[in-house]
Amino acid sequence: CGIVGYIGTQAATDILLAGLEKLEYRGYDSAGIATVWEGEVNCVRAKGKLHNLRSKLEQIEAPAQIGIGHTRWATHGKPEEYNAHPHLDTAKRVAVVQNGIIENYRDLREELKAKGHQFVSETDTEVIPHLIAEFLKNISPSSSSSPFLEAVRQAVNHLHGAFAIAVISADYPDELIVVRQQAPLVIGFGQGEFFCASDTPAIVAYTRAVLPLENGEIARLTPLGVEIYNFAGDRLKKQPRLLNFNP
Ligand code: GLU
Repeated sequence: CGIVGYIGTQAATDILLAGLEKLEYRGYDSAGIATVWEGEVNCVRAKGKLHNLRSKLEQIEAPAQIGIGHTRWATHGKPEEYNAHPHLDTAKRVAVVQNGIIENYRDLREELKAKGHQFVSETDTEVIPHLIAEFLKNISPSSSSSPFLEAVRQAVNHLHGAFAIAVISADYPDELIVVRQQAPLVIGFGQGEFFCASDTPAIVAYTRAVLPLENGEIARLTPLGVEIYNFAGDRLKKQPRLLNFNP
């Protein structure tokens, strides 16, 4: 029910946890965080309150500078840890958080299973990392300036429903890709660091320069900046605006 994402130079886990706390008002039954560090996706999830996730995270070193976080309000699959986000592909290279509902997930799941993908949750969300991994296999690195962005773009063109997603990959540690389709998502612009969240309270502590994504937009966040595209892959020109914020 809440999404946060970070890419930059600070420790991502602290920023993601702080952001998720600001989204608690939206309600949730479980929470999780995935980061990329030393070529691996590290994913930690917990049922119940954020406190449970925080306790688990305290036991591990967390120096990563890129990550995504989620508070889940279950729609498809019980509120259990194995259904909590982030969800991963079979090879554990792609991690996804989602707000909303993927209506055609059953069909996609069957198609992906037939191609050898193994599913471990009951959620609608889990098809997304598998679909992205499947498209990544078929994109040659030289054919696209960002194969990761291209794979996410192709994947979202196959999703039906109302959703916002954030995606990271162990193979593309300098890219955070976010998508908005009928569920809210804002981007925050800092100095050499960028944020995304379901709502501005999660990021106003770090920056007042925000850009709400529109439906049908994909953003690629890197430590160097933010690029916005439509689902056809055309680059869009957009600027953040400054939030008036009276504490
Ligand atoms: N439909 C997804 C699930 O049940 C996402 C729910 C949400 O927005 O938190 O996992």
